[in-house]
Amino acid sequence: MAFHRITYHPTYRFATVHNYGCTFRCPICSYKLRSGADGRPGHAHPRPERFLAVEEIRAALRSVAPEKVYFMGGEPTVAAELPELLAFARDELKARTYLGHTNGSKLPLANLNGANVGLKAWDEAVHLAYTGRPRQPIFDNFAAAFRAGLEMKANVVYVPGLVDLDQVEAVAAWLAELSCDIPFHVMGYIPVPGQPYARPSSEQMDEAVRLCRKHLTHVAASHLTSQEALDLSARDDRFQVQRIA
Ligand code: SF4
Repeated sequence: MAFHRITYHPTYRFATVHNYGCTFRCPICSYKLRSGADGRPGHAHPRPERFLAVEEIRAALRSVAPEKVYFMGGEPTVAAELPELLAFARDELKARTYLGHTNGSKLPLANLNGANVGLKAWDEAVHLAYTGRPRQPIFDNFAAAFRAGLEMKANVVYVPGLVDLDQVEAVAAWLAELSCDIPFHVMGYIPVPGQPYARPSSEQMDEAVRLCRKHLTHVAASHLTSQEALDLSARDDRFQVQRIA
């Protein structure tokens, strides 16, 4: 079991099933903002007090009948029960299903409508330094999911000194080879404990967006401070959710 919390947004009628754990060990993982982890592998995510049984998850989702179900938190595909919950959401709830955030290591999946993939870097050496994993399987999985007809989105964290502008632009250019209409989000790095990198400036973020817009039609950006990242509901009503399990 890896899912430990479910939230629901009654206005937008989406539920989010939150996972614990990830297959990557990114030193700059933003989960460290909450856990205060010190950068040791495997310590980025705060461990939940308890996990939900599959029947609890089914009951909670049935109680709200969401139109969309998102699975996220760390890397949601580490949850062994994900395939049966995707099938449940599609077959019984008639909901659309998404990976709200994924590192792309297990795509495509049956009964999945779409995914938002964090593409970490373009160069193999940078990707390895960032994630500990090779880049090619991730990009291949993204392309396979796109070609299978999933609604695909991508994002990248711009980290001056680690994931520089050349990396960000190369990822955007690669996406454009699939389709220039794939939504792409550039996130400014939010400094986490124990890492040497600085938050990009506003000018650096503008340049990152400008470079990506050379290739892609739908480029958005966020440039949050640590404090803003810890309270997203103050900035976006989609985060004003109710806990249902
Ligand atoms: S893939 Fe995402 S959730 Fe997993 S360690 Fe890296 S940044 Fe954190």
